[in-house]
Amino acid sequence: MALIVQKYGGTSVGSIEKIRNVAHKVMANRDQGHDVVVVVSAMSGETNRLVEMAKSISDPPNPREYDVLVSTGEQVTISLLSMVLDSEGYPARSYTGWQVGIKTDAIHNKARIKEIDEHNIREDLNQGRVVVVAGFQGIDDKNNITTLGRGGSDTTAVAIAAALKADECQIYTDVDGVYTTDPRIEPHARRLDKICFEEMLELASLGAKVLQIRSVEFASKYNVPLRVLSSFQEGSGTLIVPEEQIMEQALISGIAFNRDEAKLTILGVPDKPGIAYKILGSISDANIEVDMIIQNVAADGTTDFTFTVHRNDFKQAQDILRATAQALGAREVKGDDCIVKISLVGVGMRSHAGIASKMFGTLADEGINIQMISTSEIKISIVVDEKYLELGVRVLHSAFGLEEATA
Ligand code: ADP
Ligand code: ASP
Ligand code: MG
Repeated sequence: MALIVQKYGGTSVGSIEKIRNVAHKVMANRDQGHDVVVVVSAMSGETNRLVEMAKSISDPPNPREYDVLVSTGEQVTISLLSMVLDSEGYPARSYTGWQVGIKTDAIHNKARIKEIDEHNIREDLNQGRVVVVAGFQGIDDKNNITTLGRGGSDTTAVAIAAALKADECQIYTDVDGVYTTDPRIEPHARRLDKICFEEMLELASLGAKVLQIRSVEFASKYNVPLRVLSSFQEGSGTLIVPEEQIMEQALISGIAFNRDEAKLTILGVPDKPGIAYKILGSISDANIEVDMIIQNVAADGTTDFTFTVHRNDFKQAQDILRATAQALGAREVKGDDCIVKISLVGVGMRSHAGIASKMFGTLADEGINIQMISTSEIKISIVVDEKYLELGVRVLHSAFGLEEATA
């Protein structure tokens, strides 16, 4: 008998029929004698609908009230699932985040879980009940409702699994595992039986939304066995494991991409100490996160400085940069919000040179211009025009031999 935490995403609970399907999967586990805690998302499309309503009033919406609003989506699905389980003769109880004691910090819209009081959950499990918990939400020290950022139900599930020391945390979604890249973009993408935490962390942070990055961080920190599976298809999915448990490490494990980036350039700034600080300081004072940064070699005593931000922050960052440009006597500010970032990820890169040049050569052969490059030990990211996203991902996928082996 095992203790299993299962999370079902929006598409898995998108209708009453699909909720019945989830209930049957849970019941099968109960029949095998397992204790089950289920974390659910809102029905697919619901969180987006709520966000749009909030934005129609003010953009950005009041952060506290945004959390009160968007956390309602999950309250609908926990109750519906519990009702189905109950009607099938499997006792169940639903809990919102605050009821089950998911304590977070006070950063609305992207709160972090600090602790979980697993008391209620254990008591219900001991009584033979299935415990159904609302994903994506918690409560701060002052009893304000908080939410964990988009995709946050993954993190709720892993955090509960960590608190309960569950035998496995299973993330059920609309794909049957983690693929070499998003199968919606590359139909030849291949499912990975296993991937290591480090690579999964990179993929998640570079745009692969199959797991929220914080869920991977949690799982890695607390050694939670984490598996991604399909709600609609049988199979063993993808297990996320420590690196040493992967026997044959591929050079490149996957390709991630991010459509949410925008690029800003300030041209002709004086080349002297403190300039980067002045440019980026005012951006970070506005709580805007900067991703890639490039400073050119100076010529004639001036230099150019380019960086990327989230597309949502583009307009605000551009306004700030224009003010900085004026204060510094810079020549011009340029912006482009039609760019994407494509990244190759693999721990195999540590021990192999030549991956970057193969990447650049492959893109050059297709006439794809690279606008920015950044590298770290296990990843290489490039920025290109967004019209090259699909083509770029596919040619790289094929060049690095990631596709499904043909029989
Ligand atoms: P859920 O609503 O179940 O949380 P998400 O939409 O958040 O589901 O995540 C699943 C989606 O992630 C898939 O439908 C797929 O398009 C996308 N995805 C992106 N990169 C990958 C990848 N490398 N492997 C699998 N899925 C990926
Ligand atoms: N419902 C939330 C969202 O759409 C949380 C989640 O699904 O993980 O982002
Ligand atoms: Mg998700």
